[in-house]
Order: sequence, then C-alpha cells, then structure tokens
Amino acid sequence: MPSVVGSILILIAFWLILQSLRSLWSSLFTTSSKKAKGAKLVKRSRFEDFLLDDKVNAGSLAVTGAGADGVVTASDAASSLIQEAFRYASKDGFPVLILYGTEYGFSRQVAAQVAAQLSQRFGGRVSPRVLNMLHYRVLDFRRELVVLIVCSTTGDGVVPSDARELADLLAAQAVALPQNAQYAVLALGDRAYPHFCRAGRLFSEWMQSLLPAKDSELTSRAEVDQEDWPTIDGWLESVIVALSARLTQMEYLYPGSDYLQENIERGGSYLADLANDSSRRYSKDAPFMARLVVRRLLTRILEQGDKETYHIELDITGSGLNYTPGDALGIVPRNAPDVVRDTLAALHMRGDELVDGACSVRQWLEERADLKHIRGATLFDALIASLDGSAALKERELAETLRRDHQAMEAFLQGRELVDVLHSFPSARLPVHKLPEVVRPLQPRFYSIASSPIVHGTDRIALTVAVVRYHIHGRDHKGVATCYLADQVQLGDLVPVFLSRNPDFRLVTDPQCPIIMVGPGTGVAPFRAFAAERKSCSGRTLLFFGSRYRDRDFLYADEWDALVKQGNLELHTAFSRDQAEKRYVQHRLLERASDIFHLIWEQCAHIYVCGDAARMARDVDQALRKILATEGSLNAQQVEEFMQQLERNQRYQRDVWVE
Ligand SMILES: Cc1cc2nc3c(=O)[nH]c(=O)nc-3n(C[C@H](O)[C@H](O)[C@H](O)COP(=O)(O)OP(=O)(O)OC[C@H]3O[C@@H](n4cnc5c(N)ncnc54)[C@H](O)[C@@H]3O)c2cc1C
Repeated sequence: MPSVVGSILILIAFWLILQSLRSLWSSLFTTSSKKAKGAKLVKRSRFEDFLLDDKVNAGSLAVTGAGADGVVTASDAASSLIQEAFRYASKDGFPVLILYGTEYGFSRQVAAQVAAQLSQRFGGRVSPRVLNMLHYRVLDFRRELVVLIVCSTTGDGVVPSDARELADLLAAQAVALPQNAQYAVLALGDRAYPHFCRAGRLFSEWMQSLLPAKDSELTSRAEVDQEDWPTIDGWLESVIVALSARLTQMEYLYPGSDYLQENIERGGSYLADLANDSSRRYSKDAPFMARLVVRRLLTRILEQGDKETYHIELDITGSGLNYTPGDALGIVPRNAPDVVRDTLAALHMRGDELVDGACSVRQWLEERADLKHIRGATLFDALIASLDGSAALKERELAETLRRDHQAMEAFLQGRELVDVLHSFPSARLPVHKLPEVVRPLQPRFYSIASSPIVHGTDRIALTVAVVRYHIHGRDHKGVATCYLADQVQLGDLVPVFLSRNPDFRLVTDPQCPIIMVGPGTGVAPFRAFAAERKSCSGRTLLFFGSRYRDRDFLYADEWDALVKQGNLELHTAFSRDQAEKRYVQHRLLERASDIFHLIWEQCAHIYVCGDAARMARDVDQALRKILATEGSLNAQQVEEFMQQLERNQRYQRDVWVE
C-alpha cells in the first residue's frame, strides 16, 4: 500500500514538474516573440522619427548601441531615405535636386511642397528629389544639373546643424558641380533676428562662386519671414518659369539615368550610423521623459513685473544623453489647462470631438496647437464661412474688413491668441477639422544647459528659466513652456526632453587661455557650467552679468561669490535699475576697455555672449568694436576684419535668441 501511495506521489510530482516546465517554456517563448515585435516597432519608429524629425542634431557619427533593441539597419535607413527623396519623383523625368537645411522642420515642409508643385506643373517631365543636407554624402554633385536650396537660419544667423558639413564644403569650394548647372536659393528666417536669413544668403554666395556664369541662377534668392507662403509661392513660380524656358536645353545634357537611388542604397550603412548616433536618439516626437527633481526660485518678487526665474534640474538617468556645456535642451511643452478650457469654451466645443479621426480636440489643444501663432488668412476665411446668420452681421463685416486688409489683420492679431480672436467673434462656429489649419503646430522650446556633466554629474541637466507672464487684450497670457515648467509640472513628474547640440558654442579647452563671458539675465545659464569647469585654470575667467536689481534678480549670486572668493572668477555686474541712470553689461565692458583689449589682442582671449539677440548681443558687439577701435587705434575696416577673424577662429561665439 505505501508503495502505491509513493508511486502516486511520484507521478503527481512528475506531472507538476512537467506543467511548470511547460509554462516556463511558453512564457519564455511568448516574451521573446513579444520582444521581437516590440523591437521591430521601435526600430521603425526611431528611424522614421530620425528622418521625419523636426530637430535633428549635429554630432558625432559614431554608432552606438549596435545590436541593442531599436538599432536601425542599413536597409531600413536606405529605404526610408528613398521614400522621402523620391516621393514626387518620376522615373524618366529630368532630375531636379531639392536640398533642404532645417533646424525645426519648416524648410523640410517647404522642400516637399516645392517638389509636389514641380511634379504637378511638369508632370513626369521633371523628377524632383528631396534630400536633407545632412545626407549630402549620397550625392554626386557632378551629375546634378539643377539644384534648388531651401535653407533656414537658426539662432542669430547660424547655419542649421545638419547643414553645416555641406556648408563647410561649399564655403571651401570643395564641391564639383557641372559648369552649366542651374540653381536657386530660398532663404527662410525670422525678421526679429538681426542676421535675418543669413544661412540662405551664405548658400547663395557659395553657389554663386561655384557657378559664376550670369545665367546660372534660375531666379534671384527670396528671403522668407517665418511662414510667409506668398513669398515662397512667388519664388517657386519664378523657378518654374525659368525652368520651363530652359528645360529642353537642359534635357540634352542629361545622360538619362538617375544615380541617386543606387547611391542611397549603397550608403545604407552610413545612413544607419547617423540614425543610431546616441545624440540623435531623442527628438520632439520621441523625447526622453526626464524627472523634475529641483525647481528653485532664483529671484525675489517684490512687485508686479519683477522677474520670476527658476533653477530647474531634470534627472536624465538611463537616457544615455551625453551633453556638453553650450548645448541646449529641447522641452516639449503642453498648453496650460486654463488656456485649453477657455479655448474650448470659445470654440463652443466639448473636447471629445475628433480633430483628425484619432485625436480629440482637447488633446490637440493641450499638446499640438500653437495657440499664439495664428494663420490669419485661413482663420478669417473659416470665420467668414461660419458667420452667415443675420445675427452675426456685424461680426461678419469685421471679419471681412480684416480679411481684405492684410496690415489691419496683422495689427488685429498682434498679441492675440486663438481664444482672444474667438472672443471677438462669439457667433462663429469653426468646424473641428479646420482647426489644425488655423494655427501653427506647437513647437518645442530650447533652454541653454546650465550644468556641467563633469562638475554637476552626468545624470542631471540644469536649466535657468525666466517665466513669461503678461497681460494684454484684457486677459492674462502665459508663456507655454515656461508656465508648463513653473506651474503644471510638479516635483517628481516627467518632462519630455531632447538634446540640441551646439558645436558653435564650446568652452576653449586650453586652461591658460583667458575667457570673457557676457551673459545678462538667463543668458548666464551656460556660464554656470563654463565657470564650474574653469575652476583650476590658470587663464583668467571673466563674467559680465546684468539684471534689473541686485537684491531681486542677481541669478546664482552665491555661486559666483564662492568662485570669486576662491580666485576662480572675476565678476563684473550691471544692475540697470539700481541707480537713476541705466547701466548694462556693455557699459561695464567699456569701463574696462584697456583690460578687455589686452586680453583679446595680447592673450588671445575667447569671448562668449549669451542671451537676448535683439538688443544685448548687438550692443555688446558694438562695445567690443569700440574697444578695438579706441584701444587698438584700428579703423572701421580693420575692426570688421578682426571681428570676422575672431569668429572664424571660434574666439567670438554667441548663443543668442529673441526673447
Ligand atoms: C538656443 C536657445 C536657448 C535658450 N535658452 C534660454 C534659457 O536658458 N532660459 C530662458 O528662459 N529662455 C531661453 N530661451 C528662450 C526659450 O526657448 C523660450 O523662447 C522662452 O522661454 C519663452 O518660451 P514660452 O513657451 O514660455 O513662451 P511663448 O509661449 O513662446 O511666449 C513668448 C511669446 O509671447 C509673446 N510675449 C511675451 N511677452 C509679451 C508681452 N509683454 N506682451 C505681448 N506679447 C508678449 C511674444 O510673442 C513672445 O514671443 C532660449 C532660446 C533658444 C533658441
């Protein structure tokens, strides 16, 4: 009997072991197949994102993470690029190359539009191919007979990071184009910056030097202020006219087969290397979720209008982000809940209506809509169409008057967000599907990184954020990203971020070299990192800081104080409102003219300027020129040449933006 019981027990134990082995096997199997599916998805979306990314950064081309999940293969890379390049191409058409240089994606959008129009107007006779300048290596310029360049300018006059390598080659005249090639340049920019459209102008100059013949330019360069589509359309129309006139002649020169697809296929592994580069891992559409760990008010707010500036720290553990002081961090913000609520009410919508089949109007307002940048003509057309009842006669008249007079419309829109406009047209009922056409898509905002990975740790990124709040048109308005960081996100919450490299703003590595940093207001952010890294350098480290009041907005005063006491920093401050006469950083520079001149002229100091592009950077530039002229007895031309030389030698670097 005991032996029977024993046998049964052994059988049960054996069955149990079998069952657990089976479930272990099945769990292993399903996990790995799920993983495989996941990896495939990640792989696709990451590369697609890389290509379609609105903010692809420059950086090293080293492959990182090879073999890990999400690695882009050579064939994936090539086929995605071919898809973008040949979307409007035709098999036997005359090839036209449309090269775009983008920072935030607008020139990419324009380039695609140019290709679509060429394809439509010429039918299959012309084959437009679209390529990001980043991928110029797949090109054989000797075989390109028509090159159209669409290039944005980033910051104050800077060539977009992805376009820099090609820009360097063109500047050095190291690109061979057929002597009978034709070109045209469309320069995109923002008139708020002093060096409006500078990158496009440079591309024009370089193309002109490469193709000096009088009729090489299909049409003269157009300069576009933000989304000025009429100017873009005008330029495109003259390109089409010129191309029509010359096409038959050009067709004789074309050997009849397009090399580009084959080159892209052969360049797959190089393209995959680019896509797998860790500095490109995150973007606006695929950001890293960093945890907010510190938010400290740096200012004292005593009365309305006083600055509200925060020191913010984000934990980037696990991101693999390797940043360098001088880089900026992109923040993907959300519109404030009260702004979303008020806009929904003004739209007379509940929030669950679908904008594009999948996204609710509430989600679109929260995450995708730039409610400050209204496309006036489209909005007023939509308003007029919706105002047809007799009760809305007055509103319709106002809408029609503004629609007819562009200047009046622009003046009306000045400072108004979508909700403000809708308040003036309470009877209007905009159709939900029209909404994405009436405002621009919400863009990320950039913040100069205020920490050093060496000194402050590789797992944290610090920012210095001045909050934007103002009252206009009878309503309180908020800066989207700054109020998102100041009000919406709580400590411990996740913030979507990505890195924006800035190889043009780098601390000199020679410890003996003196540096002069000029950073009033939040412009001081990168200098917190620079100064921290200069601690044991023998070269002098000067910082010119400015703000309104010493006792209210002297950012990081304690940290500067400690560095000064250790003998690691020479600090010069200008508090504009602490005395009757306004004092700014440029005045402090001029007061020390002889020392500044000596540092620049004798000791090869590097000069760094960060902050407001519109006034401060211009005033500081003028102060430096004045110092060179007076202390060095240089004439205007010599000053100009010396300043250009400083820039070329990266001894005068600027990281400036319009506030
Ligand atoms: C490379 C780079 C680095 C930067 N670094 C920093 C940094 O370190 N720290 C920092 O704080 N910022 C920095 N900025 C600026 C930052 O990116 C944002 O532009 C800024 O914080 C405002 O963003 P926001 O979304 O809060 O405001 P938005 O929602 O963009 O609102 C700003 C807009 O509101 C309007 N506006 C503002 N004030 C008024 C007013 N009084 N009356 C009428 N209209 C008004 C203007 O149209 C203005 O353009 C940097 C920008 C760049 C490009």
